[in-house]
Formats: sequence, structure tokens, C-alpha cells
Amino acid sequence: MIRLQNLTKKYGKFVAVNNIDLHVPRGQLFGFLGPNGAGKTTTLRMIAGILQPSAGRVWIGGDDLIASPMAAKARLGFIPDRPFIYEKLTGAEFLRFVAGLYSHDGEKVEQRIDELLNLFELSDWKNELVESYSHGMRQKLIISSALIHRPECIVVDEPMVGLDPKGARLLKDIFRRFVERGGTVLMSTHTLEVAEAMCDRIGIIQNGNIVACGSMSELREQTAAGDVSLEELFLKLTGGAAVRELAVVLED
Ligand code: ATP
Repeated sequence: MIRLQNLTKKYGKFVAVNNIDLHVPRGQLFGFLGPNGAGKTTTLRMIAGILQPSAGRVWIGGDDLIASPMAAKARLGFIPDRPFIYEKLTGAEFLRFVAGLYSHDGEKVEQRIDELLNLFELSDWKNELVESYSHGMRQKLIISSALIHRPECIVVDEPMVGLDPKGARLLKDIFRRFVERGGTVLMSTHTLEVAEAMCDRIGIIQNGNIVACGSMSELREQTAAGDVSLEELFLKLTGGAAVRELAVVLED
């Protein structure tokens, strides 16, 4: 469903994302993990079509993002880490606006707005200005806006940030149900327990390269790590030695 081929992003001479190949099929929840600055957001923004790759290609459900951007983007819902939101619109107006960007309007959109606001317990805030929403409520509105056009895949950068435990649980359930129905989710997260509990496959990126990719058991095999947690695997692959050295320094 989401296919990346030799995807690369350079900022001047600095290579932020280096020749990434990846395929996330239909019905899969894929977790993208990596240390700060590894290249996760850059990759997700290229998949969403809001950042131009330096090289390589992206297909969303068979549509090439460069050759057929409208068709590719219509299949995709993107939840960015730092979303832009119009403060002077109400929640319903914001969702109507986003639906319009996908050429969706009329009674079906109104029903979808009510359905999503109800799901996220925002119905009472439907006609309130976004400027009065809390951080978590904004996050829920942004997630609703990414689902408004019934996308086939969701690309999401750090989805749990700002959500209360109930909201986080709801989002996990939504993503799981979405993939069970044949959807595709590509999610970046720093919360390793979330990734371990939710994801069918995990890719670990470091310095712009995918250094390991697979299910938890495949990752354990690849790293000969034995029956360890994702945290241990992650530290092993991305420089856990530094963390352990820090612990020693602090103990002295
Ligand atoms: P984090 O977990 O901290 O959010 P990340 O894995 O999402 O990190 P990116 O935001 O993709 O990392 O950044 C990857 C690298 O590219 C970093 O070294 C960052 O400094 C660099 N980078 C990102 N955007 C730009 C830019 N506009 N100009 C120059 N360098 C950039």
C-alpha cells in the first residue's frame, strides 16, 4: 500500500534520509522508531507529499506521488507532529474545510463530521472556536481531519503526544480496527511499549538509514538478541552503550 524506493532527502550536503526502501502492505500497522534526528519526520513528510524528496519514489496504493499527486493523496490521511490548525474556525468548520480540500461536501460530510466528533467526544465543542480547545482536543480534531475523507492509509507522526490515557486507548483501538478492515498505518513513535504492543512490523531508523526491520521476532533474530524487550533491542541497535555509560557516570 505504501511503497518507498531509494527515498532520499538531503539538506545541502547533509543526508537526512538515505536511500530508504520500504513496503507496508494493506492491513498492516507499521511502527517507525529511531533516536532524535534519525529522519523519521523527514520520511513521513515525504510520504505525505509535503516535502520534496532529493531522490527516490513514493507510491500510495499504486499511485506515484509525483506523477499522480491528487490520486495518491486522496488515499492518505496525514497526522503531523506539529499540525497547523485555524484558530478562528469552529471544530465543525475546520473539518468541513479539510473535507473540501478533498472535494467532499454535502450531507455525507456533515454525517461524517458528527460521527468523528462523537467518536472523539468533541460533539459538545462542535460549534466552539478551535482557539478554545485544549491541546488534547486539538489533537483529536487533527486526527478527525485526517480521517474525514475515509483514507486507505494513515501516516502519523507521534500520535499519542498530548492525549490523555482514554484518548490514547481510543486511538490505539481506532488504528487496530482500521488495519483489521484492510487499512494501512505507518506510525512514528518514541513510546516503545506502544510500538511493541500495537505494531505488526517495526522499522528502526538511525542517521537516515533503516538499520533493522521486521516483526518483533524477526528483529530479535536479526540482532541475535534473544527474548528481550523492544527497548533493549532499540538500545542495542541505536547506541545503548551511551545510555549505560551515562548510568555509570551518574553512579560515580
Ligand atoms: P525527532 O525524533 O527528534 O523528531 P526525527 O527522526 O523525526 O527526529 P527529522 O526531523 O526527520 O528527525 O530530522 C532528520 C535530520 O534532518 C536531523 O538531523 C535534522 O536536523 C535534519 N533536518 C530536518 N529538517 C531540516 C531542514 N529543514 N534543514 C536542515 N536540516 C534539517
